[in-house]
Amino acid sequence: MANSFQSKRLAISHLRKMGILRKGGTLTITWEGFVFGSYARDADIRNSVVIQKKPNEDCIELGYIIVEQDDVHKRIHCRVRLTRTTKQWGGFRYYFICPLTVNGAPCLRRVAVLYLPLGEELFGCRNCHEIKYPTQVFNKRHSGYDNVKRSLIEGKIDKLEIGLREYYGGIKTKRNARLDALYKEKDKYPI
Ligand SMILES: [Zn+2]
Repeated sequence: MANSFQSKRLAISHLRKMGILRKGGTLTITWEGFVFGSYARDADIRNSVVIQKKPNEDCIELGYIIVEQDDVHKRIHCRVRLTRTTKQWGGFRYYFICPLTVNGAPCLRRVAVLYLPLGEELFGCRNCHEIKYPTQVFNKRHSGYDNVKRSLIEGKIDKLEIGLREYYGGIKTKRNARLDALYKEKDKYPI
C-alpha cells in the first residue's frame, strides 16, 4: 500500500498541455525536491523521466533511472500504450493504458494518471500500485491542500473511468457529464 505523496505521478493532462500527444516529441519531467534522494548529487537524474512520443504511434516511451539497494542505478525503458475517446463537442480525451501485469493478468485499465511509488520499478495505475486515497482534507491554508484535493478528484475520475467505454451513439451519458465536471474541477488544482 503506497501513499500518493510518496509516488511520482505522470498525468496525461500534462502531456497534452505540453503538446506532445498530437504532434509527438520529447519531454523531460523532473520532480523537484522529491523525496527520492533529492539531497543526492545526481538528484536531477534520479528524479527525472524522459518521455518520447512518435507522431503516428499510440504509445509513449519512458526512460528513467531508479536507485536500488547499495546505490545501484538501474536504467529503465518501457512503453506505455495510449488510447483516446472523442469528446462530444470535438477533440479527443487521451488516456494511458496501465502497462502492469498483476498475478499474471495484464491490467489494461484506462487511466488519466500513472504512479511510480517509492521502491517500485514501473509506472502503473493507482489500482495496481494500491495507492490509497487520502481520507483527510487539509485546511485550505495548508500547503498540501491542493495536492489532497486533486488526488481526491483523481480518485473519483479513476473510479468512473474503470468500465466506462465509448459514448452510446454520441449521447452524453450521466457518467460522462459527471466526468467532464470532475476534469474541469481538477484543472483548478494544477500540479
Ligand atoms: Zn493497473
